[in-house]
Amino acid sequence: MFSKFLPDEQIDQIFDLQPETLKKKGIKGIITDLDNTLVAWDVKDATPDVISWFKTMEENDIKVTIISNNNQERVTVFSEPLGTPFVFSARKPLSRAFKTVARQMGLKKEEILVVGDQLLTDVLGGNIAGFYTVLVVPVVHTDGRITKINRMIERKILKRMQTKSNSNKEE
Ligand SMILES: [Mg+2]
Repeated sequence: MFSKFLPDEQIDQIFDLQPETLKKKGIKGIITDLDNTLVAWDVKDATPDVISWFKTMEENDIKVTIISNNNQERVTVFSEPLGTPFVFSARKPLSRAFKTVARQMGLKKEEILVVGDQLLTDVLGGNIAGFYTVLVVPVVHTDGRITKINRMIERKILKRMQTKSNSNKEE
């Protein structure tokens, strides 16, 4: 059961995802989280680095869609200037938004990568939907209120996983 919380890969920042390595993995589409994945949760607009990352993906025919549990205003204000498709109030880890976007991208699930900073929403949701999942270190280490509660649960899961892998080693 805990394997559903485990990402296929961990990275330090979104910019570690680059076309060359993605293409080698057969990835043609990225579903990315917004808050603390692309920018800090309290930063309204995309930074120049984020803008150029989106441009690089577009130039390499890698489709990117933002899926966020945050509200309409936050996600729209951020995403529209980037010209990228987006889903707000997505209710991750539920699969519905992920599946809708996969259909819109016209890609197979093996061709889609899900990236985000949270195990309980991004990684779990991506795994349930059957995509390749990547956990990114949060842009900042402060969070909104709901995220704080998720983080607490996350720490418990991580602790348990650690314990589990330790006990496996002892066997
Ligand atoms: Mg996030």
